[in-house]
Amino acid sequence: MSKNPTVIAAAKPDHMTQFERRKLKSADTEMSIFHLIHRHQGVSRIDLAKRTGLSEATLSGIVRGLIKKGLVIESGKGSTVLGRKPVSLRVCADTAYFLGVDLEWDSVTVVVTNSLDEVVHQVETPTKMLEGRDAVLQRTCKIIQEALKDCRLPKHAIKGIGLAHPGVIDTQNGVVLSYPRPGQMTEWKNVSLKAMLEKEFGLPAAIDDHTRMMAVAEKCFGMGASLNDFLFVSVGWGIGATIFINGEAYRGADGFAGELGHMSLDENGPLCFCGSHGCVETLSSCTAIIETVRRAILKGVDSTVRDLAEGDLDRISIEMVSRAAVENDKLASRVLEEAVVHIGAALSSVINLLNPRTVILGGLLFRHAGPLLLEPLRQVVSHRAMEKSAHQIQFIVSGLGSNAAALGSARLISEKVLDRVYEERCQALPRKQVA
Ligand SMILES: [Zn+2]
Repeated sequence: MSKNPTVIAAAKPDHMTQFERRKLKSADTEMSIFHLIHRHQGVSRIDLAKRTGLSEATLSGIVRGLIKKGLVIESGKGSTVLGRKPVSLRVCADTAYFLGVDLEWDSVTVVVTNSLDEVVHQVETPTKMLEGRDAVLQRTCKIIQEALKDCRLPKHAIKGIGLAHPGVIDTQNGVVLSYPRPGQMTEWKNVSLKAMLEKEFGLPAAIDDHTRMMAVAEKCFGMGASLNDFLFVSVGWGIGATIFINGEAYRGADGFAGELGHMSLDENGPLCFCGSHGCVETLSSCTAIIETVRRAILKGVDSTVRDLAEGDLDRISIEMVSRAAVENDKLASRVLEEAVVHIGAALSSVINLLNPRTVILGGLLFRHAGPLLLEPLRQVVSHRAMEKSAHQIQFIVSGLGSNAAALGSARLISEKVLDRVYEERCQALPRKQVA
């Protein structure tokens, strides 16, 4: 058996390369079909035949092999108007389990998912980023240990750890290159997080960008599930974007695509931690919004946010600002309005450049203030973007919760270790059954 099967990721035969087609006819076919079923849970044999170009008879044989190995199950019956009902195929839920971690500015979220991407356990703890990198990493390892213990799964059932980090990531080597946030630039310079996780837990690990992992979750489980091309924008403690083209997240030449937050809107604007001036992140991130509200209250501006924070201005949250704006608080409304103008300006440039049909808006700000911001954002874009690009664009607020990046990270590692899961299962079975 080959050690390095190609994951057939194309959604349609038209998108498959010659190489992928040849690969499907090789000895790795069964593993490739296993990957496809994992990627498109609920797919029918007919769909698989369309996606791969293989005959239904050939596929039936391959699927039989996967069912025999206990890797795939036939689940439920689909329906067609023509009578014959295609059976849908899924990976067995308990084939393997995965850990997804979101190491965000304010909280660390850990999810344990099964092979159907269902969350079987979840835990969260404050990050306390300002205590420094070593304390944060210790806390992260501790909560992962707790999750491993409390999920009550045998140790060998967990096959890998995926981790989302909001810094600039070298995904190939699993290194956090930098983290342009207050006090974090020297703390998070060239941190080999993947190696650390693999050493600590003895499991394969992968790390990736926070926004990209939210976008992956959106593509797999959210509003983007039925879309091949869309733009995902996250506004939280930082701002980022991911563009999906033909169902795949575009990473750029070196893997750093999507740094929407560091699009400079005003060369005389505030200095950003990336070294530039007037980045949209310095003007419209949740960090910037909260700081603007806090400073205004300190200067004596009256606002219900002060009451919501019970007078402790360090407690101001984006939820409080959003709530105050809903109650027509002047300060909160004005600050959110200004933030939307800047987000809309940056977004308009991206829309002019990429001409997406759908923009999905996620992250802390849209989770709490989505309905409030959607229409003003539409208006800014309609005024600032080229008419032809903005004319038919659809804005949608993500329906995923605060665990989106952790879910995306679990999905990331599941795809990376799936061939290993397959090989382990084959080795564990009696020789006669594998044949
Ligand atoms: Zn910047």
